[in-house]
Amino acid sequence: MHIQSIPMWEGSGNNYAYLVTDDKTKDSVIIDPAHPPEVLPVLDEKTSSGAINLTHIINTHHHHDHAGGNSEMLKHYPLPIIGGRDCSFVNEVPPHKDNFNIGSIKVTALHTPCHTQDSICYFMEDGDQRAVFTGDTLFIGGCGRFFEGNAKEMHRALNEVLASLPDDTKVYPGHEYTKGNVKFAKKVDPEGEAVRKLEEFTQKEKETQGKFTIGDEKKHNVFMRVNDAVIQKSVGETEPVEVMRALRQMKDNM
Ligand SMILES: [Zn+2]
Repeated sequence: MHIQSIPMWEGSGNNYAYLVTDDKTKDSVIIDPAHPPEVLPVLDEKTSSGAINLTHIINTHHHHDHAGGNSEMLKHYPLPIIGGRDCSFVNEVPPHKDNFNIGSIKVTALHTPCHTQDSICYFMEDGDQRAVFTGDTLFIGGCGRFFEGNAKEMHRALNEVLASLPDDTKVYPGHEYTKGNVKFAKKVDPEGEAVRKLEEFTQKEKETQGKFTIGDEKKHNVFMRVNDAVIQKSVGETEPVEVMRALRQMKDNM
């Protein structure tokens, strides 16, 4: 499995589209190609040289900065779109835990409603390589806003659904938000070693996607540490859903 990040709206939205290619068949999907002017040149070069065989467009959720490029993309690549139910032009909405393949890559769709009700994360496995594309549900060191859901749903999404993936699964989120997330994490966990390490990384590297795993998130992501006494003390709650609610409120008001 080869994963190429395509940064979009750098300096404002700081989004990522991802081109995922099966090494053996060259079958490929493009995830969240929301800004075609930045995505099409990459795809055109690779399709014309035969480096990839693009088979699907995939969306993590319906927001414009994720699925808003679908109409324009279809003009250039009339392919089926797999995505959440509210994504424009979506053809296939995979049920929770449904499997499909990209060549020899096995994909599992994981429904994670909260940021939007149609949010889907895509877990991909190829041999011993594992990756999860989390849209605006899980960020490196953070999580998405609860636009269409509540703390109970985000707790389930992060701490039941995504936390149950193998610890060595690399995380590919929809935005580069890590620096801001570290700033917040330091308020909640000022002495934390894992948060300090993440901060060090962001001081050296601009891009953090694919550099951290689900196992790392359980250590440095305060939203995945709702059972951690340090976090509970900091927010003044102990019940996991209430800890989640308090964390999101604090971050929204930061
Ligand atoms: Zn969104």
